[in-house]
Amino acid sequence: MTDLPAERWRVGDIEITRVVESETPVSAKFLFGEAQLEILQKAPWLKPCYVTEEGRLVLSVHAFVVDDGQRKIVVDTCVGNDKLRRMPFWSQLQGPFLSRMAELGHPAESIHRVLCTHLHVDHVGWNTRLVGGRWVPTFPNARYLFGRSEWEHWSGEAPTPGEDIIGDSVKPILDAGLAEFVESDHRVSPLVWLEPTHGHTPGHVSVRIRSQGAEAVITGDLMHHPLQIADPEIATPFDYDTEWARRTRREFLARYTDAPVLVLGTHFATPAAGQIVQERGVRRLVPRGSGS
Ligand SMILES: [Zn+2]
Repeated sequence: MTDLPAERWRVGDIEITRVVESETPVSAKFLFGEAQLEILQKAPWLKPCYVTEEGRLVLSVHAFVVDDGQRKIVVDTCVGNDKLRRMPFWSQLQGPFLSRMAELGHPAESIHRVLCTHLHVDHVGWNTRLVGGRWVPTFPNARYLFGRSEWEHWSGEAPTPGEDIIGDSVKPILDAGLAEFVESDHRVSPLVWLEPTHGHTPGHVSVRIRSQGAEAVITGDLMHHPLQIADPEIATPFDYDTEWARRTRREFLARYTDAPVLVLGTHFATPAAGQIVQERGVRRLVPRGSGS
């Protein structure tokens, strides 16, 4: 095993495993366009897990495997190996993601569904892998679910110079006949369904889970860092529509603050899940670590 964190949570009969591709401190400027020093001071609970002593924000790229005992669903597939990308630290990676997934009990052949909350670079990468110079589906026995409106948006866009995210990580899935286009409230299984949370991208979705009275939600990128729980107005430059994304965050926090729902953050560092609570006007994440 490498020394990357691995976490697991139980939600009723469902087990959720976090498979980390990278966990790295980045500058507040990178994530939010400007330093948010006052808010960092107002939210001391962010240290040391989510903000370093030096004030850098820890950003994780990971997948969640949602396993109900019958069916395994991978939610978001990170950056992937061998992909030519504009961001130098994401270009032509050679990481052990797939072997880590297998070590955690989830070899690629065992996956039944792949679900991308949206079609950004760090959510579709392991959809495919390079074999003999061709991009082939990484999860050969899975159906891949893509939001219909998300696909309609991105398939109409020209690739950014220097990278072809749709071309190397989504189109090969269509060519292999493994893609399904679904609505934003699609039910993936009796216990798992999509919740529309548009704004970060036009067809962005979150993932809801309910089993034996226990509930969870996987955020996707409606927020990138627990800092945005403290202040949902803080926006990243990666949002397609800043105001739409802010409104979606406010609505999400209204739904899940002080609710008995485990919130799993798609880019949250370890521990990547917890409950959102509000006390004396301050909203924060109370982390729930692995196995608890
Ligand atoms: Zn992302």
